[in-house]
Amino acid sequence: MQKMSYIALACALALTGCATTEGGSASGLSAVSSALSSTGAGGTGASKSENKVGAALDVFKAATVSDEELKSVALQYRAYGDRTEQLAPPKNKYAQRLERLTRKHVNEDGLKLNFKAYLSKDVNANATADGSIRVYAGLMDMMNDQELLGVIGHEIGHVKHAHTMSAMRTAYMASAGRKAVAASSGTAAKLADSDLGELGEKLLNSQFSQSQETESDDYGLAFMQKHKYSVKAMESAFRKLAALSGKQGGMDQMLSSHPDPGARADRMREKSAGKK
Ligand SMILES: [Zn+2]
Repeated sequence: MQKMSYIALACALALTGCATTEGGSASGLSAVSSALSSTGAGGTGASKSENKVGAALDVFKAATVSDEELKSVALQYRAYGDRTEQLAPPKNKYAQRLERLTRKHVNEDGLKLNFKAYLSKDVNANATADGSIRVYAGLMDMMNDQELLGVIGHEIGHVKHAHTMSAMRTAYMASAGRKAVAASSGTAAKLADSDLGELGEKLLNSQFSQSQETESDDYGLAFMQKHKYSVKAMESAFRKLAALSGKQGGMDQMLSSHPDPGARADRMREKSAGKK
């Protein structure tokens, strides 16, 4: 799986490279085929060193990326995701269940949040810096309401602790889209779909650290306690994920980017023991 992500990332880099030289108007298909042929031509060494130079420049430029710009990028990235994923329509059962569970949490802990369901059967949930939280049907099928609230509390933790903001900063500072915006100074960041797609690949590859996950688990547990939800539900949610890992390919974010669910379940059991 690691290898697969790496390949996806390499292709994404090559793809945006092509799109940039062709003025950003290259059709998806021709860009992909150029990406494939340039990789096949053994240009990996050259593009790697170019990337190193690019990365050094990006680190320098990153200091000038404001939170405001990052929020704008996060909003655009989320809008792109909602357009390209299978967003559950409002009357859909997944949308309605999620709305019922989250309606009292749209202004949670000083944050402005929005929740939507994706119809994909992936076991997945994610959050972005603009306060958008997305839950996939595959995860919703597995979890009862309390467990789902535990996962949602965990995702809110990633927003509250600004993990989503720092992940976006890291991904954006290394992106072709950022370079384009930096080149056209003064204007607000407005990214093309190809840039947003590339940003998604980078976000997928910049996983949260173990300490960020632990911090969000603790936040989730406190969230459950605060709202008088079941504090045991987080443990059982992780038990279910633990049972699933090994059976599935591991592409799902809940499994691949989050540390060992069994250990997290044990930790949640210990931490919740003192709480009612
Ligand atoms: Zn997480």
